[in-house]
Amino acid sequence: MSTTNIPGANGIIQNEPLLWEKGKKGRRGMCVPASDVPEAHFPADFQGQGVDFPDLSEVDVVRHYTRLSQWNYGVDTGMYPLGSCTMKYNPKINEKVASTPQLAAAHPMLSDALVQGNLQIMYELQEYLAAITGLPGVTVQPAAGAHGELAGMLIFAAYHKAKNSKRNKILIPDTAHGTNPASAALCGYKPVPIKSGPNGILDIKSIAAVMDEETAGIMVTNPNTLGLFETNIREIAEIVHAKGGLVYGDGANLNAVMGIINPRKCGVDVMHLNLHKTFSTPHGGGGPGAGPVCVTEELSKYLPSPRAVKEDNTYRLDYGGPESVGRVHAFHGNFSVLLRAYSYIRTMGAENLKKASQLAVLNAAYIKEKLKGTLPLAYNRPCMHECVFSDALLQEDKISTLDLAKRLIDCGYHPPTIYFPLVVHGAIMIEPTETECKEDIDQFIEVVKMIVREAKENPELLRQAPMRAKTRRLDETLAARHPCLCG
Ligand SMILES: *Cc1c(COP(=O)(O)O)cnc(C)c1O
Repeated sequence: MSTTNIPGANGIIQNEPLLWEKGKKGRRGMCVPASDVPEAHFPADFQGQGVDFPDLSEVDVVRHYTRLSQWNYGVDTGMYPLGSCTMKYNPKINEKVASTPQLAAAHPMLSDALVQGNLQIMYELQEYLAAITGLPGVTVQPAAGAHGELAGMLIFAAYHKAKNSKRNKILIPDTAHGTNPASAALCGYKPVPIKSGPNGILDIKSIAAVMDEETAGIMVTNPNTLGLFETNIREIAEIVHAKGGLVYGDGANLNAVMGIINPRKCGVDVMHLNLHKTFSTPHGGGGPGAGPVCVTEELSKYLPSPRAVKEDNTYRLDYGGPESVGRVHAFHGNFSVLLRAYSYIRTMGAENLKKASQLAVLNAAYIKEKLKGTLPLAYNRPCMHECVFSDALLQEDKISTLDLAKRLIDCGYHPPTIYFPLVVHGAIMIEPTETECKEDIDQFIEVVKMIVREAKENPELLRQAPMRAKTRRLDETLAARHPCLCG
């Protein structure tokens, strides 16, 4: 393919100084008519130092922010195949709904009687999420997936405490997202890592071998972070339940299974969903998000409070009983994220939610099939919403997964997730989502093939990449520890 066809071939990236460096005394963005009243002065001791704002024209300001925005890459720029993150396109109608003044400007301390519509939306969203997961008790308070996990672990702890059952461990597969062991540890549980079987999923025997009456339960991500469906989930849940444990479902990968599996029927007792992954809140910038938690009838009394309830056609916040684990977020949670999810679910309808999942899986399976001759598959079996390759072939040319990822930036793509999950050497995890069309996916596939050819023919090109980005290779450790925000 000719390099002029790839999306990143023609980018212009302007340098841009700070506004303070750009300003020139006396420059301004508007003209104020000459004053026709006598000048008045504040007393000298009233004036202070004045603000240190630069003088700028309108075009200075517009260009400044436009240029800064062009250093960024988002789902609205192009394909963002970041595995495990579900970076799908979020329909703009949901943004419009979230910014409706009656909703966006409602004060969180208004009495229930004055915000019936808002409470109705919260209540109905709870009901929709209950229908999607099969788990009837729902809180929309948690602000993120990890926060939902924490709420879930607090519920585990409250349940076992009420049963007077002392449990201090929790089973967590080696493919789990790092937040799983962290959330469990925050609640005092010791994470017990479980090795996945040779086919990338949990085997029944390894759970049976360690599940005991000191173990609070298991945290399972399904499909797991290798993009594989945990087909033994029911048997695993039975083993855990037989020993008095609970099953936590990490629902971050729900985008693969909406309307297709019923988590409750798989044996899940508690599950969080990431509204900012599956349900149309743009993310990647660190928030805000929402991680509602859905639980069985039996566990509902432990849910965080308050929750929206409906009685005789009126809605109110219910503060729960003494068993509730209490509040995990101020006011109503991240309400604007709930609005987007509500709008997304209403505009899609059950049929289209299911179709979205089917297409997400189809797109990933297509990439897996098309690229499996180019990069080695970590597990050669049907995938769900994402497919994972290893660096085994790149290593022959002394090229790392990082080099390939950096070269993709030059070609106009946000790199996929790399070096995760940890069980795959030099992992490259690609999640195209349902919102990419076949032409764009085909182009991405061609670009990956081109880069793998370059690894043989011109490996230096990969080692030097990215050449066309605003910044080249950063010292990622230094960047995290000593962020320099003015360079
Ligand atoms: C994203 C993710 C999480 C954490 O969700 P946050 O909203 O980022 O806190 C947990 N588990 C899995 C599998 C994920 O992909």
